[in-house]
Amino acid sequence: MESFEELLAESVATHGHLCAGQVIGVRMSMLGCRLLGIEDPKAPEWRKKLMVFVEIDRCATDAIQSVTGCRLGKRSLKFYDYGINAATFLNLATQESYRIISTEESRQRAACFAPEQPDPALQQLQGYQRMPDAELFAVQRVRVDLQPWQMPGPPRRQATCSRCGQVVRDGREVVRGVEALCTPCAGEGYFRLVGAEKTDWSMLTIEENKS
Ligand SMILES: [Zn+2]
Ligand SMILES: [Zn+2]
Repeated sequence: MESFEELLAESVATHGHLCAGQVIGVRMSMLGCRLLGIEDPKAPEWRKKLMVFVEIDRCATDAIQSVTGCRLGKRSLKFYDYGINAATFLNLATQESYRIISTEESRQRAACFAPEQPDPALQQLQGYQRMPDAELFAVQRVRVDLQPWQMPGPPRRQATCSRCGQVVRDGREVVRGVEALCTPCAGEGYFRLVGAEKTDWSMLTIEENKS
């Protein structure tokens, strides 16, 4: 694996700015890979062995993607919206996994590791780089029971919503009695319909490209 400095520079380039979250995410990923014996997660021989579960959609998640190469679109990154600054690193070859949590104490402790910095944001940025892993993180050995349809590769399972006919892939249907429903039809969607369910193109104003 590349050095911390190289990995940080890459993650800052994709994330768009240097922030404490980039430092945390890079260090979390390096620790996760070390614990799992994964030498270089982006190298061909390791690429398909790592899966990461992130628990927050904030800065550190971009760094985790940058360092590990795990992506939602590749199904090697899973997002569980817990609002916790933590991620679980799973070695798919051994099933070994570790959940790494950014500690609340480290927020206060950062200043002790960067006393020369006057600004609290810079104290965090510097402090997080100098703090030992044991202060920055808590680590839990965990077991992730992955279902076959959560794995990368072609969909292993699909169902058809008995209400709207939408095909639901990867085991995400909601079962109600003998019925399989898509999540919105089951009333568990993240949105509410404010118009007709079926597309009404006459209601949609689309600017034509007049080049
Ligand atoms: Zn950021
Ligand atoms: Zn449906």
